[in-house]
Parts: sequence; structure tokens; C-alpha cells
Amino acid sequence: MSGEHPTRAEDFDLYALGALDDAERLAFESHVGSCADCTEKLAAARGRMAILAFAATPVAPSPGVKESLMRQVIASAEGPGGSVARVQPDPAGAGGVFARWWAMLLPVAGAFALATILLWLHNEQLDRQLADLHNTIAQQKQELAETRHQADLIAARETLVIPLSAQKGAPEDHPEGHARVLYNAKEGMMTYDGWLPAAPADKSYQLWLVPTNGAPISAGVFNPQNGEMSHMMMKLPAGVTAKEFAVSLEPAGGMPHPTGPMILLGPIT
Ligand SMILES: [Zn+2]
Repeated sequence: MSGEHPTRAEDFDLYALGALDDAERLAFESHVGSCADCTEKLAAARGRMAILAFAATPVAPSPGVKESLMRQVIASAEGPGGSVARVQPDPAGAGGVFARWWAMLLPVAGAFALATILLWLHNEQLDRQLADLHNTIAQQKQELAETRHQADLIAARETLVIPLSAQKGAPEDHPEGHARVLYNAKEGMMTYDGWLPAAPADKSYQLWLVPTNGAPISAGVFNPQNGEMSHMMMKLPAGVTAKEFAVSLEPAGGMPHPTGPMILLGPIT
């Protein structure tokens, strides 16, 4: 293949618009003609530009302009090595009609359409960069808030650290697993970090706070992928005195009260 891939993404659009200068155009053509990747990108660019051109308000050319355009179009479409024939590597069939449309549309729409399209391309790029930036900032803010919260939770004197371990009565396919819960009753805050084998397809794990008085409170439903740690942070009713934390295996999506086998248990001593 001759030459390098075009370095600027907009080269394909500019070429499709006929807006490259002669030197750029020749370099572009000598490469694209022998590069399947770039041929594909060029086809996509032509599609984009066609949509934009057809969306633009049509302008009626004066009869003289139309006549001279038609002469040029016919000459270049027929002439060997004419500009239209070079632009369109497949001159047969729909490609030829397409190329003729281009040749007619471009001079008519003129500089205004080109400026609109360039602005549109530029805006598109800026919008993407801005959206990326917003996402990154939002993600970092959330990570920071979670880290801070966890640090506060660990530092607080009244926060309990409760290890959870696998139960003797656990089903045979769940012989292993371990977790750690941080629980701050005053704040009603809890974090869970643990490892368990993946639950069967129709099941979920469910974490429970078992209070000294009253029914177990659901503290989260989770479905770990094999080999992955689970991490949860939950806001629970404040002021509840916990007796233990437990993980049970429940129907997928969890239950209002524990029904399945107990997998992990962590009593508060
Ligand atoms: Zn290429």
C-alpha cells in the first residue's frame, strides 16, 4: 500500500466534500486506493456528507450556472481519469449516479454548506470531549465520596468490624467464602466486602442485619461473578442494635425475610 493512513479523521469528510487541496487529494487517493480500511472509512464519510448535504436547504441555481455545471459533470463523468471517475473507485452502477449527485450538489451548496459541515464536525468532537470530561469528573467525585465515607466509618470509635465466615451447615457447593462488615449503628451505615463463589443462575445472595430485637433487616442483594470481590455500602435504619450479620442464598432478586440456607455468619461478640 502506498503512503500512510490519513492522520486526521476529518480528512475523509473533507475528501468526500472535495475540500482537500490538490497535493492532499493526490496523497489521499494514492493511499486510499490500495487500503481496504481507509476505503471503508471513506465510504462512511460519503454517507455522512450525503445525509448532511441532502438535509441542507436546496438552492436553485441560475440557468447559466446549471448549464455549465451539467457540461462539467458530463465531461468529468465520461472523461478517462476525470475528477469524478477518480473520486469514485467503482464507476459502475449506483456509484456513478452518486458521484454525479455530488458534483452537482457541491458547487450549489457552496461555502455555506462546507462551513456548516466543518462546524458540525468540530462541535461533534467538542461535545464528545466535554461528555467524556463530565463522566470522568462525576466518577471521581463518587469514588472520593465513597472512600471518604469508608475512611470516616473505619475511624469512628463506635464502628464495629465483624468478620463473616462460612457455616458448617452450608450447602456442599458453598463450602467457602468469607466477608467483613463494618457497621456503625449510630449512623446506620454499613459496608460489606467479601468473596463468595457465583450463585446459581436462579439465586442471589442476600445480606441481613439480625437485630437483638425483631426481624432480620435486608442489607443488600448481590450476585458476585466468579473470583470477584463484592463491595456494598448501605444506609440502614439508625440506632438498631445488631446481634449478628448473615448472608443467605435466596431466590434471584432477594426476599423480604430470609428463607434460604445460611451461607456466611458473623456474630457480634
Ligand atoms: Zn489506510
